[in-house]
Amino acid sequence: MTDTSFMHIGLDDTDSTKGGCTTYLAAVLIEKLAQMPIHFIDYPALIRLNPNVPWKTRGNGALCLRLRHPPHLADDIKQLALNLWEQHSHLNNKGTNPGIVFYQHENIPKELTAFSRRAETSIVTLKEAIKLIRQVGAEALGYNTCRGIIGATAAIGETLNGDYTYELIAYRTVENWGTKRCVDKESIFNMDQLLQPKVFNNVDTEKNRVIITPRGPDPILFGIRGESADVVKQAFGLVKSLEPVERWVIFRSNQGTDVHLRRVNSIDKLERYSSVILQCVVSKNPRIVPVRHVIFSIKDAYGEMDCAAYEPTGDLRKIARELVVGDCIEVMGAVHRSTKDKHLTINLEKINILNLNQKVVQQNPFCPNCQKRLKSMGKHQGLRCERCGEKFVTLKKQEIALPRTLKPGLYLTSARSQRHLTKPLRRFGQEKQGESVVLIEGWHSP
Ligand code: ATP
Repeated sequence: MTDTSFMHIGLDDTDSTKGGCTTYLAAVLIEKLAQMPIHFIDYPALIRLNPNVPWKTRGNGALCLRLRHPPHLADDIKQLALNLWEQHSHLNNKGTNPGIVFYQHENIPKELTAFSRRAETSIVTLKEAIKLIRQVGAEALGYNTCRGIIGATAAIGETLNGDYTYELIAYRTVENWGTKRCVDKESIFNMDQLLQPKVFNNVDTEKNRVIITPRGPDPILFGIRGESADVVKQAFGLVKSLEPVERWVIFRSNQGTDVHLRRVNSIDKLERYSSVILQCVVSKNPRIVPVRHVIFSIKDAYGEMDCAAYEPTGDLRKIARELVVGDCIEVMGAVHRSTKDKHLTINLEKINILNLNQKVVQQNPFCPNCQKRLKSMGKHQGLRCERCGEKFVTLKKQEIALPRTLKPGLYLTSARSQRHLTKPLRRFGQEKQGESVVLIEGWHSP
């Protein structure tokens, strides 16, 4: 018998739209565990799963705590986790289906990691999760439909061995839950300015708005995202909160890594609820539909479909509006089925412009006699000069090339409408490749 054991605790789906937050449960659990003779072997993992899952409450986040402990404490740790999980779960809410999973080995088997990859990019079933839990010798408990077991299992399996980021989440005191968050706006803009590009998605410069504070009734005061635990901690010190911070924790996360995007080779291979990267050609010019959404069509050798840049995508919508037939692009976004015509549509997150086509307009030529632009006399009727009255039946419309304002390159939705998993421009070039992780001193509140 060894003198050390390992435990991975996966948690999901404890909250409802009326309140609660699984990260908060994790934060409370961390504090209680820290009072025991245990050792955290990693930061708590905040794992975002497939953002297109229709039954998610908000950002489809699941949590995992990983620890080393004396073997005799295994049952106490599980009991503590179970008690808090039950206490913090909104069990009376119909849409809340809490799940908790314990995996008591040091290394994560590859089947679990493969499951997490699928949960990040497609739809998986509870049946699959339970089969896997049995196969790897994990334990799970769930309430209501038990669907949270899916996310709890996936959080354990995502070991963040490739690219990853950090988020420091600060929580509000209970009496403030449900009220307007009070954080000094200027301090957040200053912090972002000082620490960029090591922090990201703090502010929306287009609308001059802070985006680290959520709007719902949950206990989160704000969350600061960045490239290292040190930088998010430093950022925390620079943000002036105008209300008390109850507790805070640094999470390691797949946020901002584009892990949800999968390259698909042709239109006929697109699957609903997935997020894809697809190379294609613009086949119909953009049109604006109510309320200020931009729709254009794309095609490849296997089919044609619509792409949508909705109004909240901000900057991306402006780029989409400038595309013309023949532009060669990569589109990135979620595959949805339109409610109107039931066809698949890509809701755009990013557009990579590879090659711009000539933008041409057709114009009537000038009158050879008096240089005034000719007028059309109707379909197939030829052209006529309004000044000299002469008619020209053989003269054709001319194609005039217009300059393009667009430039090839990658364009993203505005920061305020980026999904948790979307890699922002600021992160490009800062991707990690499985660097070893060191827990900094004071990664959670005492
Ligand atoms: P929050 O971000 O506040 O934690 P949420 O958006 O994460 O809320 P949940 O309440 O956790 O939403 O609901 C998401 C549910 O979907 C969970 O039960 C989770 O297990 C399940 N789920 C997550 N990913 C998938 C997937 N790929 N396929 C099927 N179900 C999934």
